[in-house]
Amino acid sequence: MTTAAAELAPLLASIAEDAPVYFGQGKVNGSIPLLAKVDPKQFGIAVATLDGGIATAGAANVPFSIQSISKVFSLCLALDYMEGDLWTRVGRNPSGQRFNSLTRIEQEQGRPMNPFVNPGALVVADCLTERAATPVHTLIGFLRKLAHSQRVNCDYEVAKSELSTAFRNYAAAALLKDYGNLRCDPRAVVSAYTHFCAASMTCVELAKAALPLANDGRDAKSGAQLLPAGRARRVNSLMLTCGLYDAAGDFAYRVGLPAKSGVGGGIVAVVPNRMAIAVWSPELDALGNSVAGFAALERLARDADLSVF
Ligand code: GLN
Repeated sequence: MTTAAAELAPLLASIAEDAPVYFGQGKVNGSIPLLAKVDPKQFGIAVATLDGGIATAGAANVPFSIQSISKVFSLCLALDYMEGDLWTRVGRNPSGQRFNSLTRIEQEQGRPMNPFVNPGALVVADCLTERAATPVHTLIGFLRKLAHSQRVNCDYEVAKSELSTAFRNYAAAALLKDYGNLRCDPRAVVSAYTHFCAASMTCVELAKAALPLANDGRDAKSGAQLLPAGRARRVNSLMLTCGLYDAAGDFAYRVGLPAKSGVGGGIVAVVPNRMAIAVWSPELDALGNSVAGFAALERLARDADLSVF
């Protein structure tokens, strides 16, 4: 079933109009000092469809910190380097813990539950730090290519701000190193990971970057195979089961799409063979997911009948 972006425009406009209802129900991320200063009352949404169309509403062209959404793209890159090997080092099951929890590292003897919790993303960042000369440039270059935008960049101020308080990620990296699951210096790995998270993108750029995940890895416009065939299906399955951490089950129930959230307030969702959606609103719920973003995706999936189930 194909969907033209223009058909969705009125629904997106209505969703953006209703977004202020959710303002005040969550809290802006407090763990990254610079992000704590972001104006909470913002909302943007963009949909990129396989015919090359884009529909937007609200602040869809305002750059924001993609944070953990970067884990989807760093995973895609790391799988290029070491598919089999990565899965000996990281699992593929939900953790049932907060994204930055350390308890599972001990319980699983240094093998993180999945690539989307911080310890798993640190192992992914280790793969990229080991193989790429400049891992941050490699990731940003990949995002630019996927999003068709040279504007995409790392916000070095956000990275610096997070590194000043990243004690829990340093602890996770030290523990992983102790278990022999990091090959590089843990400080270099935390630095690369934190800079990946500090990638700054708009909803439009993020929706375009995720579109190959809805198209078996192909660029919607040129047809170029940007990810090996079959990878999108696998990455989407991980997004569905682990993308919203311990809210993944609730999200699958209410929205029914593979998705990934970040503490910058963004959520990206994939509708296989149809479209990719990016939504952003900075206030987060107790599990670290955007309150207005979650609600917007629930309504969009319901009213446009997008659930994969
Ligand atoms: N950089 C953040 C952290 O490591 C990302 C967390 C997130 O977006 N869930 O805690």
